[in-house]
Amino acid sequence: MVSVSYGKYTVELPVRVKLFIDGEEVPSSRGRTFTRENPAHIDQTLAIVEEASIDDLNRAVDIAREVFDKDKYSWVTNYRQRIRILYKTAEILREEAERIAMTVALENGMPMRQAKSHVLAAADVFEFYAGLADKLYGESIVLNNGNVTLLFKEPVGVVAAVSPWNFPLTQAARKIAPALAAGCTVVWKPASYTPMSAMEIYRALAKAGLPKGVVNVVYGPGATVGNELVKHPKVDYVSFTGETTTGKLIMQQAAAGIKRIGLELGGKNPGLVFEDANIEEAVRAIVFGGLRNAGQACGAISRVLVHESVHDKLVSRLVEVSKSLVIGEPLDDNTDMGPLISKAQEEKVLSYIQFGKEAGFKVALDGGKLSGGIYDKGYFVSPVIFDNVDPKSRLAQEEIFGPVIAVIPFRTEQEAIEIANNVIYGLTASIFTKDPARALRVARKLQAGTVWINDAYTQPVEGIWGGYKQSGIGRELGLYGLEEFLEIKQVYVDTTGSLDRPHWRTVMKIDKL
Ligand code: NAD
Repeated sequence: MVSVSYGKYTVELPVRVKLFIDGEEVPSSRGRTFTRENPAHIDQTLAIVEEASIDDLNRAVDIAREVFDKDKYSWVTNYRQRIRILYKTAEILREEAERIAMTVALENGMPMRQAKSHVLAAADVFEFYAGLADKLYGESIVLNNGNVTLLFKEPVGVVAAVSPWNFPLTQAARKIAPALAAGCTVVWKPASYTPMSAMEIYRALAKAGLPKGVVNVVYGPGATVGNELVKHPKVDYVSFTGETTTGKLIMQQAAAGIKRIGLELGGKNPGLVFEDANIEEAVRAIVFGGLRNAGQACGAISRVLVHESVHDKLVSRLVEVSKSLVIGEPLDDNTDMGPLISKAQEEKVLSYIQFGKEAGFKVALDGGKLSGGIYDKGYFVSPVIFDNVDPKSRLAQEEIFGPVIAVIPFRTEQEAIEIANNVIYGLTASIFTKDPARALRVARKLQAGTVWINDAYTQPVEGIWGGYKQSGIGRELGLYGLEEFLEIKQVYVDTTGSLDRPHWRTVMKIDKL
């Protein structure tokens, strides 16, 4: 046994992570497990994880179905219970934020400072939706003919939640918290790279008093366990966050059952720096927005579109600030950037760096694979900034998901908008300018679910998150994030009692019978 410590916390490795079905942590019915290594110390096994069989998955869905359909524990009807549990979950996450952050840092490679705020952000999501569980108001409409039609908001049913590894707690919270607030039940398949973070969430929910079977968790490969879950006939709604290519597969699977879906997918997000921008503000926002979590962030700025008149100044300062980042041990409070999540991700990022160099783009900051000391033990890659990148090239079109930034100069506002929009994605964009009229004019023309003006990558829980184009379907967070988990039912009430109704009479002569 190995132990790892941070402050007053010590974790004995490897951690055993089990399936969570009907309120119990259980082993795989087939006895299969997989392991998760530490991306900063690849010789260290962090977790041994039970892999769900198809029988386990079916059991998880059946239980979620039964709790929902029979309203077991009054889960669907008693919203006060749901409010209490969601608030309590937020409280538990906050109380244990540092310990849970350690788990995130270990398995995701996210530096501790960021990991702590990540836990608190997940707590905010539970708290926000706790406050909405008693506000599932419908509508009543008095019609022209004097009758009344009522619109009820009802939970959509059994939700399949499939989440990624890059922000393991918040991405899951944005699905689970509104689903629970709405009165749904959930079967969740977390990413295989971050099983321990998932365990923290369902343990917090259980500790908060969640009735058995309301949330069930199955681990395993996306291609098998994830795939079977999203096409399961007893699932009503699929909430997915991950790659656009996976999102396309999920849409196809959901089509067979005409299931409702919410998709949060990839991005290739531009930061537009105009000639009147505060360059220091723009640089700091770009470094924060582009390199946090080592660039493994769907909303990361990965293209910097800069007016030619401020290009040199911006690039030299961007290089300077990017170079100053401390890359290293995620459990060290001084670290700004940890390792990439996996060997596969490292290879993918390095292949884009190689492509950029072979394509002949100017290398403004030459980083890449780091070696020596701790760097030899993990997937550490330092930032690379390419300059004068062709906007049509792969470097400027494809999601890299690593610390690689492509700088593209522009001459006019119109040209900047065209370059910004000329990708398949439409998740986020940042605009840096001191001119408020320009900021709003450009914001309206950008095809992106979120546009920040003089900032990057802040995600208020009260707002929304979601993408245009191939960045997704639907919205998470805020009031809209709750609507995703609600059906709207119309109940039309005749108030006349008359046997002679104009709408009957117009179509059929039944009043003459
Ligand atoms: P991924 O698509 O590889 O996997 C996401 C989840 O889907 C995992 O749990 C995986 O096991 C599962 N999965 C994989 N194939 C599946 C299938 N055929 N059927 C069902 N489930 C399947 O993505 P990832 O590598 O975990 O995450 C990174 C991606 O997520 C990036 O593209 C990033 O932009 C995107 N992302 C988007 C948002 C957003 O809000 N738009 C947020 C975070 C991450």
